[in-house]
Amino acid sequence: MFIEINDIQKQFLDKDNKAINVLTNIDLKVEKGEFVSILGPSGCGKSTLLSIVAGLTKATSGEIIVNQSKVTKPGKDRGMVFQQAALFPWLNVLENVTFPLKKEMSKKEAENQAKKYLQMVQLSNYLHHYPHELSGGMQQRVAIARALAMNPDTLLMDEPFGALDEQTRSRLHGQLETIWTETKKTILFVTHSISESIKLSDRIIVMGTKPGTILQDIKVDLPRPREQYKKEMLEIEE
Ligand code: ADP
Ligand code: MG
Repeated sequence: MFIEINDIQKQFLDKDNKAINVLTNIDLKVEKGEFVSILGPSGCGKSTLLSIVAGLTKATSGEIIVNQSKVTKPGKDRGMVFQQAALFPWLNVLENVTFPLKKEMSKKEAENQAKKYLQMVQLSNYLHHYPHELSGGMQQRVAIARALAMNPDTLLMDEPFGALDEQTRSRLHGQLETIWTETKKTILFVTHSISESIKLSDRIIVMGTKPGTILQDIKVDLPRPREQYKKEMLEIEE
């Protein structure tokens, strides 16, 4: 298996130093090239789980194995995209994408690589624009290009389109599908939207709260009607 999430538990301490269980018994195996949504209500631990896979948060127990190595810290094999694009406001689009590449390659190579992925997200005409000159959806496309340009095997996306209007989100869904088909990335996509998860992914992991755990593991087999999946899922609010 490409990604192995092995019996992850996570506790946080509250202000009285009492342990709060946020994740329990999380076991999940993901194959290379799968597009997996992690779906669940706010507060069920989706972001915490993704952050543990990213190596940004330490689990209380359990382990993460990605491509046969144990995860102990962030790595360039795992690109991250968050709800907020978090671009450097003082750098233009091209510079934002080349910034993390500069340690890895020459300036010329970094620019070529960045341009290739900016073309993939249809931003070739905005290379010299600054983040404040772009819409929210365009900023998110820059963030996706920045993550892809490091050429990670895995994309970890935490509600990347959550802050966008419906129309923009729907356009970006199309672009993400194309990217997935063209690049064969393994994608873990966190969302609280049932329809988004059904629209995009191969497989939906449904999480519940108190404490966060996996309730269902559903293979999406389109063209089965989407409504049918909705009915099968347990009490998740859109
Ligand atoms: P989701 O992304 O599904 O909305 P989160 O992973 O952000 O959920 O949070 C899960 C639970 O863990 C929430 O109850 C949240 O308050 C708690 N939590 C998250 N991060 C921390 C932290 N750094 N310290 C304490 N509690 C936290
Ligand atoms: Mg979250």
